[in-house]
Amino acid sequence: MSTFPGPIEEIPGISVDRFENKENLSASVYFLSHCHSDHMKGLHNFFIENLEKKNKFLYCSEISKAILNAKSNLVKSDMIKGLSALSPVVIGFNREKGTTVFVTVTLIPAGHCPGSVMFLFEYNEKKILYTGDFRINANDFAKIKPLHDCDGKNLYPKKFDKIYLDTTFLRLEYFKIPTRKESVDEIRKATKDWLNLDPKNIVIMKLPYNYGLEYVFKDISIGLNKKIHVKDSVYEVYKRIKEIGPYITNNANSTPLHGCLLFRDFRGCLPCRPDVDEKNILAIHISVYKWGGNLDSGAFISWDEVKERQLSVCYSSHASCEELKAFLKYFPASEIYPCVLPKTAEKQDAIYALLAEFSKKDNQKVTIDSSYEFRFPKAGSSGKVNFKSMIFSDEDDD
Ligand SMILES: [Zn+2]
Ligand SMILES: [Zn+2]
Repeated sequence: MSTFPGPIEEIPGISVDRFENKENLSASVYFLSHCHSDHMKGLHNFFIENLEKKNKFLYCSEISKAILNAKSNLVKSDMIKGLSALSPVVIGFNREKGTTVFVTVTLIPAGHCPGSVMFLFEYNEKKILYTGDFRINANDFAKIKPLHDCDGKNLYPKKFDKIYLDTTFLRLEYFKIPTRKESVDEIRKATKDWLNLDPKNIVIMKLPYNYGLEYVFKDISIGLNKKIHVKDSVYEVYKRIKEIGPYITNNANSTPLHGCLLFRDFRGCLPCRPDVDEKNILAIHISVYKWGGNLDSGAFISWDEVKERQLSVCYSSHASCEELKAFLKYFPASEIYPCVLPKTAEKQDAIYALLAEFSKKDNQKVTIDSSYEFRFPKAGSSGKVNFKSMIFSDEDDD
């Protein structure tokens, strides 16, 4: 859960992933890394109307813009701009005192959920990376060319002045998390076995959030040659995305595979299919949190000991602690800001200690602030979005 307050202190006037308090509202330009609620605090109609009144812009990926547009409770606005990834853009904005400044911004696919991006800000010789939530396989770091400098012959990882880092799993109890492929293989196997037992059987994948499991949906759908039922609002977004659209449906009766419920809403039955008997439902809980501290054993699926037909599978769309270590070794930074901090001082200290250890180099410091070929979508003329950013190469990672 992001605890990042919004302002990028090296570039006054910019606010990222926070749109609510006085400090955010007085910013001159806004950025949204992805459409999860902890990154959208304050992103309501009041905020959007204020953009229009004050002639300010909010920048995000084209898919995030499509998700915002699909939300029936949000007004649509030309002040929300969808940008292509991997193409640097120069954004000029006026600060309060009337001076105009220019910042070069590059969106980097973050591998976390549809449309999720990192922001590379280059300003006054400073290179700042805001990762947002991310999970990128270490084998792919070298493919992200905008995060490298070159000398005419070779590419070198950029040396950042500061990285604002997704520290969700910067905890030793999450050092190793199964790759997406390992997790999906288990889900697919359990699903197939259950469907083979009885033609009336149904599988529901209980979700931690509405957007973020499209890799699971695609792989399960291909493996079983059936579509996944998703709720209407999610369908409206996914149907525009070429790489997910073919694998999902809004027709609940057409498939035994359902990804239409958040786990907090599951009551043993399937609201979209009241005709289905509970005894025919296998519920798969897709999450990572219940596994903290237990992942060393290598076991990452478990059947509920009390309730029948309840399977839990560990799956993460955030980088594991080991992956964060690899990221910080590959991309050196003079300073690192942890964007996800636990509440207690003791747990915060543990995060700072790991950051110090993983990024130890001469002249490096860690901020102590306890106050709390990769391509990307381009909307075509058809309104369809090319979603090659969803190439998660841990598909090949065994
Ligand atoms: Zn997120
Ligand atoms: Zn359903």
